Formats: sequence, structure tokens, C-alpha cells
Amino acid sequence: RSLDPNGAAVQQITVCVRKRPMSRRELKMKNVDIITVPTHDSLIVHEFRHKVDLTKFLEHHRFRFDYTFDEQCSNALVYDHTARPLIRTMFEGGNATCFAYGQTGSGKTHTMGGEFCGKVQDCRGGIYAMAARDVFEEVSRPEYRQMGAKITCSFFEIYGSKVFDLLHPEKPLLRVLEDGRQQVVVVGLTEMPVTKVEDVLRLIELGNRERTSGQTSANAKSSRSHAVFQMALHLPDSWGPFGKCSFVDLAGNERGADTQSADRQTRIEGAEINKSLLALKECIRALSRQCHHLPFRGSKLTQVLRDSFIGGKKNRTCMIAMISPALTCVENTLNTLRYADRVK
Ligand code: ADP
Ligand code: MG
Repeated sequence: RSLDPNGAAVQQITVCVRKRPMSRRELKMKNVDIITVPTHDSLIVHEFRHKVDLTKFLEHHRFRFDYTFDEQCSNALVYDHTARPLIRTMFEGGNATCFAYGQTGSGKTHTMGGEFCGKVQDCRGGIYAMAARDVFEEVSRPEYRQMGAKITCSFFEIYGSKVFDLLHPEKPLLRVLEDGRQQVVVVGLTEMPVTKVEDVLRLIELGNRERTSGQTSANAKSSRSHAVFQMALHLPDSWGPFGKCSFVDLAGNERGADTQSADRQTRIEGAEINKSLLALKECIRALSRQCHHLPFRGSKLTQVLRDSFIGGKKNRTCMIAMISPALTCVENTLNTLRYADRVK
């Protein structure tokens, strides 16, 4: 396959997996690491171990993806092979979309929003911020400056079927409308003009903080919501944005909400999350097959991201499936890998 200068494959849809390191807690509980990443595009789940000799594995599941990242890989390396090659798309008039998928605690927010130092999140090392840096490097080139190109930023959260603006001080509930030409509009969404990287970093910080501590999304709830961070390129004579980049920190895909012990609200939320992740898979598959029928109305998530799936060959998508290495997470890990496997 062809490689771009950064070493990432030039494809319309890229599916990658990132394994996070064992946490201190997992190590303390004598949990075992069951994932190996033998090459940069394969991964093995060692499901069962010999009852007596724990160093022996009995069953393996082998997967292949465009890229697989082991626990040594930094956010910067992951970025270089996933979101970075997509940035160009926005300057070519397309929509670039990058998804972080996986169970709660697998590293989605760490990868997208930035690393945590205790409860504080440093957004500078996340994919949102790295993408902002590359967008500004490009847009500050003389040809774009002369053209009067402008960048705007949005950051919102989809919780159940409700959309909340993370950049508005009152965090209003937003309505999603579809006009006669099937254009989807999030009514009243903040589209903040930004002129330098520092502006974007401030907005990311604001949204990150709101996500983990805000009223609309208490800590536990952030794992039950999708967060969407967008940058749009505006050229003076184009109607609407010329191109767009969207980065989506998806809700946890674990099926815990189906259990009988869960309360009604949790079950409804769980059902909505399932529905949106299924619709997402169908929409990405439709994109990869250049289908004309796009099941984007299947959920609020796919509805607001409609532009990411239409537009044919101009659009590009990357999914990063996050997994935990721990034996206790094996079921969720296999679910995540199977989903990622079927996206293309
Ligand atoms: P999620 O958003 O998928 O629920 P988080 O991003 O909050 O998961 O990660 C859960 C915990 O694991 C956090 O404390 C985070 O700092 C840590 N973590 C996740 N990925 C990594 C990684 N690649 N390296 C180091 N720590 C990580
Ligand atoms: Mg998270």
C-alpha cells in the first residue's frame, strides 16, 4: 500500500487499535496483561491461560488493522499515523473525522483530550491540540493568508439524544434540525473564530473541564456521552465551511447498562449509546462502499456528523479503537476489536 510522508497509509478509512499500559491499580490487583502487539499492524488477545502454568496461553485471537499501537506508543506517535494525515482533507474541501472508540477507562479521553495529571488534564498532548497546531501551520501559509481564510472551533457533547454546547457559559441544550436539502444544523452552536493555536488550546481546556466537572456532565456521566470537537475552514467566497475536521471521543461501549441491576435511566442511556454506535458503524461502512443510502438518521450522533459520511471520495475517516490490556476486560476488549474489524 502507498505511504504518505508521515508513514500513514493513504486510504479513505483507517482503522487502528491502541493498547494502553496496565494501570497501577490493575498491577496491584495482580491482573494480567493478555494483549501482545507483535507487529505494527497486528494484535493478539490471549484469552485463556493454563490453570496451573500461568505463563502458558491456551487460546489466541489474532487481529489485523491498519495500525496497532502498543503501550509504549505516545499520543504523538498515534497522532502521526491516525489524525495527522486527515488534516489535509479539510484544506482540500472535504470532511475529516477521527473517532476514539472503546470501553470506559481504555484511554479515549487521554488520547483525544490530553493526558491526565491526577484530575487535571493537560490538553497540549492530545489529538485535538496536535491537530490544531497542524491546522494553524497550514492556514498561516501566505496563500491562505492572502485569501483571507478563517478557522472556527466548536465543541459539544451528545448525551442521550441531547446536544450541549461545551463552549457556551450556560451550556444550553441545542436543537438539531434538518432542512429541505437534508442539511443538518445544530441551532445556536458556538462557532468560535480562532486566529492562533493558543486560542484553540483555551477552548479545548474549557470544553475538557466542562466535560469532566460541569453541571450537564458530572464525572461519571462523561463516559456516557460523545464529545465532538470540530475545526472548520472558511474561505471568503464559499457558502458554509469549505472543509471540516471532527474529533469524536465516543461514549463507552461497554454493555453494563443492559444488566438488570441498572436503573431505568441508565438502561435508556445504554440503549441510546448502543444505537448510536451501531448507526456509526453502518455509516462508516456506507462511506467505504460509496453507498448512496446513508443511515445517518439512526442516531443523533450520526445525524450531526452527516457531513462526515456524505461527500464521497473527498471525505476521510479514522477510527482508533482503544483497549485495556487487562484479563478482567477481555470481553469488552474482544467486543471492541470485533466492532473495529467490521467497520471497514
Ligand atoms: P476513557 O476516556 O476511555 O474512559 P481515559 O482516557 O479516561 O479513558 O483513561 C483512563 C485512565 O487510564 C486515565 O487515568 C488515563 O490517564 C490512563 N491512560 C489511558 N491511556 C493511557 C496511556 N496510553 N498511557 C498512560 N495512561 C493512560
Ligand atoms: Mg473518557
